[in-house]
Amino acid sequence: MAWWTTNRMRLIQNNLRESDANLDVERSIEELKKLSANVWMINAGGIVAFYPTQLEYHYRAAGQQKDLLAEAVEKAHANGIKLMARFDFSKAHEDVFHRRPEWFYRTREGREVNYHGIVHTCINGAYQREYALHIVDEVISTYEVDGIFFNMFGYQTRDYSGRHYGICFCDSCRVRFREYSGLALPDSESPDDPVYRQYKQFQETTTKEMLDRIHALVKSRRDDIAISTYNENKVDIVRKESNTDIHRPHPVWLYSASENVQSVEDSWDDKCVSNCSINAIDLVHRFTGVSEHEIQIRLKESLASGSGLDFCIIGVFDDYPDRANLPAVADIYRFHRENESWYGRFQSMSGIALIKPGVTQQSAMKEYFGVYKMLKEEHLLFDVIHQHTLAEAGERLSAYKAVLIPGITHFSEKELRVLGQAQHQGACLLGTGGAFTGDEAGRRFLEASFGLTYQSVHDYRQEAVYFHTADKKLFRRFPDRDWIFLDGPYYRAAAGALTVRQLPMVEPATYGPPERAFGHRLSEQAEGAWLQDVGNRKAVYVPWHAGELYYKHGYADHKHVLLDLLEHVAGEPCILKTNAPPQIELFFHRLDDTTLILHLLNLSGFNGVTYGIPIPVYGIEVALKGLGPVREVMELTKQSKVNFCSADGTSTIQVEAVADFAAIVIKL
Ligand SMILES: [Zn+2]
Repeated sequence: MAWWTTNRMRLIQNNLRESDANLDVERSIEELKKLSANVWMINAGGIVAFYPTQLEYHYRAAGQQKDLLAEAVEKAHANGIKLMARFDFSKAHEDVFHRRPEWFYRTREGREVNYHGIVHTCINGAYQREYALHIVDEVISTYEVDGIFFNMFGYQTRDYSGRHYGICFCDSCRVRFREYSGLALPDSESPDDPVYRQYKQFQETTTKEMLDRIHALVKSRRDDIAISTYNENKVDIVRKESNTDIHRPHPVWLYSASENVQSVEDSWDDKCVSNCSINAIDLVHRFTGVSEHEIQIRLKESLASGSGLDFCIIGVFDDYPDRANLPAVADIYRFHRENESWYGRFQSMSGIALIKPGVTQQSAMKEYFGVYKMLKEEHLLFDVIHQHTLAEAGERLSAYKAVLIPGITHFSEKELRVLGQAQHQGACLLGTGGAFTGDEAGRRFLEASFGLTYQSVHDYRQEAVYFHTADKKLFRRFPDRDWIFLDGPYYRAAAGALTVRQLPMVEPATYGPPERAFGHRLSEQAEGAWLQDVGNRKAVYVPWHAGELYYKHGYADHKHVLLDLLEHVAGEPCILKTNAPPQIELFFHRLDDTTLILHLLNLSGFNGVTYGIPIPVYGIEVALKGLGPVREVMELTKQSKVNFCSADGTSTIQVEAVADFAAIVIKL
């Protein structure tokens, strides 16, 4: 069995600078041991070679006095630590550019991008396609590395200052795109341009092709070398990042690590995920870390979602000017080391599937994040099924009570078949925010599976429009709130005779001055939700962006309306109930037939922007229904027993207090 498949990595990455080429390996290993790391990632090659390369166009670190890679591999292994070699082929030293200019990225005007002496390469040029493989081969043939990681794999169009240069116009790109499509490179970068859409597919195909070539080479040399990058194709360890950027618009995404891990862990059986917690505030300010409490949340979310641990700093620990987060990192890494037998093999206990938009559906991400947040806050157990795996999800998808499709407008024929099949076998489909409206195939599906004929979209901006929660039995979270506000797109459709129309639209009226804020009336043509429950076709459609509105503004109405609809059609989709507040993030998995694991993470230290010490939460009860009698409950974090009581087929776990994090094993 390959070493990474135990899924128990405690990875530390030193993102080396050229000036670290003579680093003191022994001191680094001492730091790694203090942190309980079992995997060390350091730079090997690409932009700078950190070993005595024999390759003519591989720039070696200036002033390097030793074979760093050889020493790192030897000493890491002597201490039971795996070594992963990092490569970055997205750029190369300007010396190489002067000798082989045809390998490099070109703007539309034919100019290269030289950023502080490092020049952008192109994935279609011979450097990335061929020479990079020689570099990888040299490293894996010379050194006993345990894994290789590629940074910035694929198409890069920005420099480190964030400046956008547009797509590459080098000769290789021109020729290869013409071979692929018969066309010249696109004039625009607009998703509305059919040539650009084809170019995006070309990017995906060529990126995959490159990963195929790397995979073939590496596995032909040694099949116990893990391949890792941010892509999924032919990759053993999918790398993700929880990071920040001071120019990133708010809201701050509290569930970054959970979502990063879930979207791989729940979707692929043959891959593991390593979610790197980037200590630096952003790419500009690499030497100051984010809050210790943010680091804690990221690492604990990773662990509790079914992954290992992964943490990165720039350079080496010796002269790193921010040591503040290291004790917190050491604590959680030590916890994992001491309890690792419980980790790495989580199985799903979820009754709900949430489909994550694929790479061509990025406009649906806010809708997806909003729905994700709702489910988390409500403690509903759900799996994330990445759209990239949907076509193969078949039987698996049919086992869920509800399948949530947040705003994904385009699906392949095969994906639609899988969704239709799940519905036929009893799963309720819940589509929101324009799902399925992108093309003819989707609209046919909408008609067949939801009983809806799509008509048009109208964007409500600055219009006083609402939905009326008239049916108080269904909308039980709205005893005293009758209207929900709408902002943004509304997807008009004609509902079939068997479709139940809910949430009648309160049509726009004047809203100012106050003397003129009247005149609303209930629409007879437009509603905020359509329900169908005919034979084996259970479906709900919410033709507006409830998820995105919740993600952006956080008003509970938009969450409550979806939760009421979900409960109405799917009953109680979970075997678990709790009195924990939304500020407790809950994770629940099966380990084997008689062992379950529950994690409670206290997020109360987060106020929307700043992370601080969480406020302890007392008296949390978690009721588990229909799992059989509980024999014993242990809290790993405190090494103590936890009280529980059983009655009427329900066992209730009583957790006295959660200061910040509780990991609880339940034996049946
Ligand atoms: Zn190019």
